Parts: sequence; C-alpha cells; structure tokens
Amino acid sequence: MPIATINPATGEVLKTFDPMPEEQIDRAIDRAVAGFQALRKTTFAQRADWMRAAADLLDAELDDVSALMTLEMAKTFAAAKTEVTKCANACRFYATHAEQFLADEPIEASEVSAASAYARYQPLGPVLAVMPWNFPLWQAMRFAAPALMAGNTGLLKHASNVPQTALYLGELFGRAGFPAGTFQTLLVGSDAVERILTDARVRAATLTGSEAAGRSIASIAGRELKKTVLELGGSDPFIVLPSTDLERAAQVATTARCQNNGQSCIAAKRFIVHTDVYDQFVDTFVAHMSALTVGDPMTDTTDVGPLATEQGRNDAREQVADAVAKGATVRCGAQVPDQPGWWYPPTVVTDITPDMRMFSEEVFAPVAGVYRVGSLDEAIELANATEYGLGANAWTTDPDEQQRLITELDAGAVTINGKVTSYPQLPFGGVKNSGYGRELSAAGIREFCNLKAVWVGDADQSDVGSATE
Ligand code: NAP
Repeated sequence: MPIATINPATGEVLKTFDPMPEEQIDRAIDRAVAGFQALRKTTFAQRADWMRAAADLLDAELDDVSALMTLEMAKTFAAAKTEVTKCANACRFYATHAEQFLADEPIEASEVSAASAYARYQPLGPVLAVMPWNFPLWQAMRFAAPALMAGNTGLLKHASNVPQTALYLGELFGRAGFPAGTFQTLLVGSDAVERILTDARVRAATLTGSEAAGRSIASIAGRELKKTVLELGGSDPFIVLPSTDLERAAQVATTARCQNNGQSCIAAKRFIVHTDVYDQFVDTFVAHMSALTVGDPMTDTTDVGPLATEQGRNDAREQVADAVAKGATVRCGAQVPDQPGWWYPPTVVTDITPDMRMFSEEVFAPVAGVYRVGSLDEAIELANATEYGLGANAWTTDPDEQQRLITELDAGAVTINGKVTSYPQLPFGGVKNSGYGRELSAAGIREFCNLKAVWVGDADQSDVGSATE
C-alpha cells in the first residue's frame, strides 16, 4: 500500500509520503533504546505528569486532530471527537492508576525461606506497535498510555492510509515532556515490519489488525522469542431473546453495526434472533438501518460516511453478492451508488446459510447478517460457530438466560442489554482467531512487563540450599 492520505469520500490522493529509509529506522531504534534508559529511571509521578500533559494537548487540539482522522479514514467528525476525548481519558486513567497496577506483589517470606520476597513489574524496553486505521488514535493510545506509564518506549508502524494521524501521534508524547525517543512514528510499509521485529533492540510487539497480519507477526515473533499481544478481527454476535424490549434492542443493534461506518472489530456483525420475535425485530431493525443518513462525514447530521478504503468497499460488495447468489435476501441497502468515493449503504441481509462467505468471514462494513433460531441453546451454538471470539452482545431480561450467555459464549467480552464497548477500566481482547493478550485495565499495563521474582535473604543465615532448580 502507498503511504498516503486519500480522501475516501472522493478517492482523491491528497498527500503522499516516502517510506523511511533503512538508516532512519536504525537511528529511530537507537533513540528508542536511549529513551528507554532515560524513561525507566523516572518515577511514576513524573511519568503521570507527562501523561496528563499529553491528555491536555489532546483536549486543546480536539477539533484539529478529529478533522485529520475524518479526512484520512472518513469516520464522522462527531465520532472522531468522541475518540479523541476517550484517548485523553485513557491517558488520565493510566496516569492515576499505573503505580497501583504495577505495585510490588508481596509474597509470604517465611514460605520461601527469605527475609523478604516479592514480585516486581518492570518495563521490557522498546515495543513495536503495528496499528490499524479504523480508530487511528484510540488503537495506538490504548497501547501507548499503559506501555509508557510502565516505562517502555514505543515504535509506531501505523496503517499506510493514516500517515498524518501517525505523525501527530509521533510528536504528541515528546511535546508533553517525555524524554526524546519515548514514542516515535516510523513511516514504513508492512514489508518493513519483519526487519524491525527481528532487530535485537526491539523487545516485543503488539498488533491490532487482521488475522493475516496477526499470523505473520506471531510467526516472526515466535522465531525471535519475543512477546506479542494480538488484537485481531471479530464477528461478534448480537442475540435477541423474547423477553427483551425489541425497539430498544433494534436501536442499539443499528449503532452496534454501523458505528465507525461499520468498521469496528467489536461491531455486532451477526444478529441471532429468536423465532418468537424474529419478524417484529427484523422489521424494526430494517426501519432503523434504512433511516440512517449517509453522507459527508464532516456534516453533523451524517450517521454513516464512506468506507475507508476501496478494497474494503469491494470486499463488502463481493460478500453481499456471494450471499445473494446463494439465496440470501436483501432487506435494505446493498446498492453501491454510482459516484466517486468508497460508499456502501447500511444493509440488512437475511436467510444466510453456512456456505455463504458472510457466515464465516468478518464483514467490515455496515452490513448486518440476520439469523433465526428456535431456542437459547441454538442461539449460543450459532454465536459460537465462528473462528473469531472477540465480543458478544445479548439482549434478555431473564437472569438465568443472562448467566448462561455470560458463561457459555466464547468471547473476550460479553455485554448484556447493551453493545460491546472498550473502557480503560475493563480488559479488552479476544480468544480463538481474534488473538491473545489483553489491553486496557490492570491486565493491559502488565503485558509488556517483566514480572521479576525478588528473594532477599540474610547473608549470615542463608540456607546453603539443596540441588533443586
Ligand atoms: P491490516 O491490513 O491487518 O492492517 C493493520 C496493520 O498491520 C497496518 O499497519 C498494516 O500496514 C499492517 N500489516 C498488514 N499486513 C501485515 C503483515 N503481513 N505484516 C506486518 N504488518 C502488516 O488490518 P486493517 O484492514 O487495517 O484493519 C482491519 C482489521 O483490524 C479488521 O480485521 C479488524 O477487526 C481488526 N481490528 C481489531 C481490533 C481489536 O482490538 N481486536 C481493533 C481494530 C481493528 P499497512 O497499512 O501498511 O498495510
């Protein structure tokens, strides 16, 4: 992919960038190592001050950075502003809680024959972060805020279609006061990732992106014995059971599918509806999906802008065409307008069968696949009949059904009577082909730490020890 800002609403190439040459990558890694040596010696309080300053910069520059994201990947301006504020909140959350999350863990000293013993979290060093375009600020920030608060440094390889947002991020933490080399953007294509990850100075990697990119990075990191966190795709179910308020469920289903123009890993993608309420729910859902306003993402009244890339638009069109050719029914949408840009309308498809691509593939567009089931058992079975396991949504007021869903859905997150959303306070990540490791919460900041076992004895009383490991 060229490294370029291309307006998704028109297809016009606005700005192109040359990939960083090899010597510049090398110097950036050197700076990340030097930055790590400086950062690891600072206190939590000092890092928290800098992290709060980064949050203040985001607040102050909210309109400009939001407009930049809208320009590069066409999320609505309103959604972009919410994303910037969410990033500032995550910075403040980790500024407040990092020290407590990484406090020494006491161990009963007498049980290990020590004078004192504990486990200490320490940073690993420079971490490579390979990030996607769909939440260009948030995806990078939910790695950066905890990683930097722990004392790691970051090297960001952002998606090639959001270079200007990437450059903004590459300067943000330095402007907030962090030492030089703490967080840098490398403007490189995905072909440079292997060279960076195999560099001995880079200690770990995180990727948010597709399953294919995850497999590639995991195999390189496995060969190099480097820690990885992978946040990959999803095909989240949205289960609707008879006890629920169908109007409310349909409203939230619409937002859950069409948020970020349908391009969210945790967007609800498969709508699994009990037969007793199927017709009523589907009619209401189709009415809400059809009522969405598609248009210029900078306009306040727009609900859904164009897709971010031409490839993404083509993929959606082909997935729906495949379903229709095999007998699915289009209830609304599916007509690609004859105009420049990568538009795809909110679409509802029913009568989906396992031989259709939509059944097993992630659909990264405002396209809802709807399924009819006859029981809770069948709903859970169908929800789990995917290689993904990121989030799961379910709507029921019955406490027994709620508990069964919470326990039996194979997912990194289960949301009852709402839509899956990330919060700094809650762990975020997947199971199965949605990846491994966790971001956010206490778990997220500990991922890129060495949990060091510390055993301190009295030199004069220390046991000579037996020959055990
Ligand atoms: P993508 O094509 O995998 O790209 C993501 C990043 O990986 C980009 O920086 C890309 O660089 C790079 N990349 C692509 N192929 C690579 C490879 N073989 N080796 C190394 N790096 C590679 O994904 P996307 O289309 O931008 O994003 C959509 C995907 O991300 C969806 O599947 C979505 O569900 C997933 N996602 C997951 C989460 C989560 O938290 N689980 C969150 C958001 C998105 P280039 O741009 O230069 O190709």
